[in-house]
Amino acid sequence: MAAPQLVAYAPDVAKQLDLAAADCTTEAFTKIFSGNHLLPGMEPHAFCYGGHQFGNWAGQLGDGRAVNLGEVINRRGQRWGLQLKGAGLTPYSRRGDGLAVLRSSLREFLCSEAMHHLGVPTTRALSLVMTGEQVGRDMFYDGNSKFEPGAVVCRVSPSFTRFGSFEIFALRNDLETLRRLADYTIEVDFPLFGKSGPQLYSRWFAEVCQRTAELMVHWMRVGFVHGVMNTDNMSIFGLTIDYGPYGWLEGYDPDWTPNTTDIPGGRYRYCNQPQIALWNLAQLANALLPLVGQTEPFEEGLQMYSASYQQQWRMMMAQKLGLQQFEPGTDLALTTELDRMLRLTETDMTIFFRCLADLDSSNDQTDEQLLTPLLDAYYQPEELTVQVRRQICSWLRSYLQRIADDGRDPAARQRTMNAVNPKYVLRNYLAQMAIDRAEAGDFSLVNQLLEVMRQPYTDQPHHQQFAYKRPEWARHRPGCSTLSCSS
Ligand code: AMP
Ligand code: MG
Repeated sequence: MAAPQLVAYAPDVAKQLDLAAADCTTEAFTKIFSGNHLLPGMEPHAFCYGGHQFGNWAGQLGDGRAVNLGEVINRRGQRWGLQLKGAGLTPYSRRGDGLAVLRSSLREFLCSEAMHHLGVPTTRALSLVMTGEQVGRDMFYDGNSKFEPGAVVCRVSPSFTRFGSFEIFALRNDLETLRRLADYTIEVDFPLFGKSGPQLYSRWFAEVCQRTAELMVHWMRVGFVHGVMNTDNMSIFGLTIDYGPYGWLEGYDPDWTPNTTDIPGGRYRYCNQPQIALWNLAQLANALLPLVGQTEPFEEGLQMYSASYQQQWRMMMAQKLGLQQFEPGTDLALTTELDRMLRLTETDMTIFFRCLADLDSSNDQTDEQLLTPLLDAYYQPEELTVQVRRQICSWLRSYLQRIADDGRDPAARQRTMNAVNPKYVLRNYLAQMAIDRAEAGDFSLVNQLLEVMRQPYTDQPHHQQFAYKRPEWARHRPGCSTLSCSS
């Protein structure tokens, strides 16, 4: 790279790798994490994988612009793979240039860390380096190509293996490599399963189903939309992987997708994600089938996914609402009505749930009083007509009745709610503001956001501005409301 320059590094990730802060600001660090220098022992390599993209088998894909440097085993014995994204051509680059631009790299860097601190399983990011190279991109595939600053992110993860890593060998009928990869994955990434034994592969598949269900519940909890849930972007380890045209629900709209390529079918829209994960698991099952020879164990795994997702989703909703348990008798109707109520007028999902904890539980309030703590969540105050207010308050009153029946101490309820309903998420417009500034040479907002997102559940009075709902200027601005895979 022509002139690498460090934009930011994540101190928490550096620590996991036993790196001191002083190590991360050296010239050597910037050289290594831009791809300009290898340390002894680093053996750069790229992985081969295939994938189903938007429901169709796309053939061989592979790490087209990700270069693995190797693995670090830290002082605690944990294994971390290091991977540079955007460092240049690999054997799998196909027609691509192997590079990445600053805007998408910055989004990946900040979001991986934000997700980790939200408690969502994810790959991590150590560093963000600008390369000093110019990279040509057509942001919306409409013939308007322009040069943008190039960048490299160092991703850090216990595993970068994808569903598509298995699919490619199954599709080639290369059962020997398929088995070796499965055995290696189980041995290294799932050591509790042992090296052999009856039903090893089906027990492992069930575990992948379980982890994927957990991941989906987390995404639904925080309002994250991945945007490109192709099987090559699904981690075998149950992590969020490959941050591309992802987005956060601002106004609660279950049909929203941030990815412009996905708008016509909405395959990867928010509410569809749990179903798509199941479809992707079914593709993985197909790939692993030759190792087992019977379909039943896989069918069981897939059924378990659905049951586990449903059970965990209910538990998660109970926590979001501050209830001790999800009682289907009352809470199925309560959550269905909530979903309807949140769509009456554009309602910020994050702010709504966060403020719900502040609801006054006395039962002699007017609609006006009841609604006061929630007003920040509404984007179009003029749409809060008497009738809309009445419907919102009707739900709020049934909710208050439910928490009264639940009988929990209000302070305890508030604490549980604030531990699962974040105050700060990496709103699309916040990332875009950090991009605009970084492109102008000012990296302060990247670092500030990195710091704020380390404690997403804690009120940070000095950082109130990062908890505000999306401003009007961002409503239709590319990068804030719509994104593409061009990165
Ligand atoms: P994605 O949609 O980002 O998950 O990428 C799908 C496939 O395209 C993966 O195999 C990527 O490695 C590859 N790819 C994306 N961008 C590039 C690029 N600029 N150069 C080479 N390969 C790329
Ligand atoms: Mg990908």
